[in-house]
Amino acid sequence: MATVSLQNLYKTYPGGKTGEVTAVRDFNLEIADREFIVFVGPSGCGKSTTLRMIAGLESISRGELCIDGVRMNDTPPKDRDIAMVFQNYALYPHLTVFENLAFGLKLRKTPKDEIQRRVAAAAEILGLGQLLDRTPKALSGGQCQRVAVGRAIVRQPKVFLFDEPLSNLDAKMRVQMRAEIIKLHRRLQATMIYVTHDQIEAMTMGTRIVVMDAVLNPATGLKEGIVQQIDTPLKIYHEPANLFVAGFLGSPPMNFFKGTLHQEPSGLVFRENAPGTLVLPLPERPATTAHLGRELILGLRPENCRLAGHSTATDFQATLEMVEPMGSETYLYAHTGAHAFISKNPVGHESLAPGTRQHFHIDAERAHFFDPATQLRLPV
Ligand code: ADP
Ligand code: MG
Repeated sequence: MATVSLQNLYKTYPGGKTGEVTAVRDFNLEIADREFIVFVGPSGCGKSTTLRMIAGLESISRGELCIDGVRMNDTPPKDRDIAMVFQNYALYPHLTVFENLAFGLKLRKTPKDEIQRRVAAAAEILGLGQLLDRTPKALSGGQCQRVAVGRAIVRQPKVFLFDEPLSNLDAKMRVQMRAEIIKLHRRLQATMIYVTHDQIEAMTMGTRIVVMDAVLNPATGLKEGIVQQIDTPLKIYHEPANLFVAGFLGSPPMNFFKGTLHQEPSGLVFRENAPGTLVLPLPERPATTAHLGRELILGLRPENCRLAGHSTATDFQATLEMVEPMGSETYLYAHTGAHAFISKNPVGHESLAPGTRQHFHIDAERAHFFDPATQLRLPV
């Protein structure tokens, strides 16, 4: 049983015009027992700092951290019952895999047979059984990372913290280790917090995702790490809170078009600002009508603006610029005259000639609108 509660958590460092630089501003999150929480965001948005405050490796400037309802702000790291896995796994090079796994337990004066038992169990879970006598230099990067995870497992902590543990691995190994960590979470039934800058890891691993960003504070002229949205991966994908979240999660990213909503004889349409040509008929809904005449940003995911074989009611024309066959699907890069966008399609279309005009069909039900001033997604 392990819940983690972060209430109004701040990390500030001395410096700047005001004498205080804010790395993390007002972080709030209630983590339930056995959740797999992912912190995702671009470099410098405060992910590691927040994780290190939870681990006790950084002091908490303001706010409260509780684990299982007990305030932990001033508890030393070793007494927080937490284990952390880093990007730079830093194994002891002169010790064997067994000794690396046993090291922390020995320090804690764990009885020998208990060490044996725990190391054997971790080695079994991670498939390290055959490697226990090797030293790290005889291991691959993936195997080293597995030993680093093993060191956390043998501690049997209440909470596991991972800080970009897969960043040093090659692409194939990353995908494999990603699956292993998901399985590990299921098997250990432990609470885990996982930091990554990779939106695909966030989408595939998290029971909930915390999207963070570094945002300029006009008062200080400095960037500060803030939380942009907390929710399940699919909820964030389909209902992003704002432009940043909409553009950060999803690959290729969401397309954005600036324009205005108009009521025309044919129905509701979205017209790009001049010299744009995008005219998008939309289903009429009361909430959509509320935005008539306003400057808006239309957001369309690449899979929601596909090539249409022929002209349909909800389509628009654009100039094809490039065809990118991905094997399992085809990306079309096109331009409306005002905005470039990407369209995700089933395989085929390789013979389409760049420079030609094409019809693109829009899934208007999946169109998002954002307020350019506040950046927030508008209800439609
Ligand atoms: P992330 O892990 O998301 O890439 P970090 O948490 O490492 O980001 O850093 C967040 C911000 O805090 C960065 O702007 C970084 O420069 C700043 N920062 C981190 N450590 C210190 C420190 N010791 N002194 C001042 N600023 C720091
Ligand atoms: Mg970091």
